[in-house]
Amino acid sequence: MSPAPAAVAALLDAAMKVVGPAHVLRSPDELSPYQDQFAFAPSGAHVPGGVVAPENVEQIQAILKLANEKKVPLWPVSRGKNLGYGGAAPVVSGSVILDLSRMRRILHVDEKLAYCVVEPGVGFFDLQDYLDEHGIKLWLGAPGQSWGSVLGNALEHGGSTTPLGEHAAQICGMEVLLANGDIVRTGMGAMENSATWHLYKHAFGPGWDQMFTQSNFGIVTKLGLWLLPEPEATLQLKMEVDDVDALEWIVDSLGPLRTNGTLNQFCAIRNYMGTATRNTQRSDWYTGPGAMPDSVIDTIQRQLKVGWWDISLRLHGVDGANRANADAIQRAVSKHTDRKFEITAWKQGEPRARSGQPRATMNSMHKLNWPGGRGGFLAFSPVMPLDGKLALAQFRRTRERMQEFGFDYYGAVYLADRALMVVSEVFFDQDDADQIQRLRRLFPVLVADAKAQGYGEYRGHIAYMDEIAGVFDFNHHALRRLNERIKETLDPNGILAPGKQGIWPPGQGPAIKGRKA
Ligand code: ADP
Repeated sequence: MSPAPAAVAALLDAAMKVVGPAHVLRSPDELSPYQDQFAFAPSGAHVPGGVVAPENVEQIQAILKLANEKKVPLWPVSRGKNLGYGGAAPVVSGSVILDLSRMRRILHVDEKLAYCVVEPGVGFFDLQDYLDEHGIKLWLGAPGQSWGSVLGNALEHGGSTTPLGEHAAQICGMEVLLANGDIVRTGMGAMENSATWHLYKHAFGPGWDQMFTQSNFGIVTKLGLWLLPEPEATLQLKMEVDDVDALEWIVDSLGPLRTNGTLNQFCAIRNYMGTATRNTQRSDWYTGPGAMPDSVIDTIQRQLKVGWWDISLRLHGVDGANRANADAIQRAVSKHTDRKFEITAWKQGEPRARSGQPRATMNSMHKLNWPGGRGGFLAFSPVMPLDGKLALAQFRRTRERMQEFGFDYYGAVYLADRALMVVSEVFFDQDDADQIQRLRRLFPVLVADAKAQGYGEYRGHIAYMDEIAGVFDFNHHALRRLNERIKETLDPNGILAPGKQGIWPPGQGPAIKGRKA
């Protein structure tokens, strides 16, 4: 439910006294960077009512007090670059964006125990520069789009193609502000003089770190995150595979090696579009109706010298162990192909560019040029078992759906240790009304197709949070009912990010069929 405009105006007026007039934004021009940069929702949806940018915990507490008094929802963002999932925009129009990007201190880096403690505004570039400048031998896992924050990315279950994998799994201890302004430290940090806040992930009793990820139960103001000690050596293995159906054997060869730890990388199998979208535009290849036909895809592959699938792996550790593991990986894929991996070896002390370390970059944003016009993309990200046959079936299902709605398939399959995260991106021109209509119809169908297989999304766009949360329906949506009870208790006025992940204050969410309680 959108707040009354007068209440929003009153909150923004009062907030100026807390953070200073320069840090309260309200004109359409000022708000435009806080809209979904790849918008496809109907106009009027997900429009921020204003922005307030505090610089410390005390200021956030004062703003929380105002929001509770005036019943205006806040939408906290760290750097607001959650691209493909809504950027900085809120679920509920009129929500005031709580922009935490001014809180940008790297509070601590411990090289020996390999962790950092950061505030919300610390970006991947900031942390990388800090580690470089201080000669600290720790790797952060920068994602493909590194504009965002270390903290926001971890909270949203983002990850990197390193052994760190999903960064939410590396979170260890946080400081959180509850809606009533109370400050909580999780895990071992609950002790006043804790010596192990960021070293041990559990607590005496239930652990709450994960409760504040992908959540609207609190505002995270400090985050402990484990980093990767720089490996003594890396080996990179690369192979292009032409056959589209090879996805089955690729997953079945590499999967068991992920599960048993031989392949110690959260790796991605990408399709040819990764290269095509980086270097060319769609209209360079095809201007006809519907999705690109196979003949065009063949031409792209031949001219760009890429296969259908790109297997790029990296092993981290002691050189001898890496080489033995690389042999095991080659043996596994040799059951299906005569090809040999191209191998690049690196050892500490050699130029780092050769190491394969994912450095902070925005290179992948070239892909926005692919559709032509004002390019955008929407990500569809189901999680499924680490199994080749199922992976191929899901890939085909998704590709056929995208083609049915006139879109090309672009995707990467991430191998977690027991699950696959199948991230597909649909590219569109934001000014093409026909594409936007097709996209809006497509997405709920993709979610329903995945649900029919027992797959749910690991992350989702603000426009589809209810649809995605809706597939988690065991026992009359018991998880949603539990979330709502916690929401009501912690945030009785519903001021923190209503609707995020489909969690609503009482009476505001979509009805649950056959609801009992
Ligand atoms: P990034 O900084 O990586 O660009 P965002 O700031 O866009 O990431 O954060 C992604 C989402 O995570 C936000 O839309 C918000 O829902 C949530 N989020 C981000 N920062 C916080 C925070 N400090 N506390 C609680 N939730 C947050």
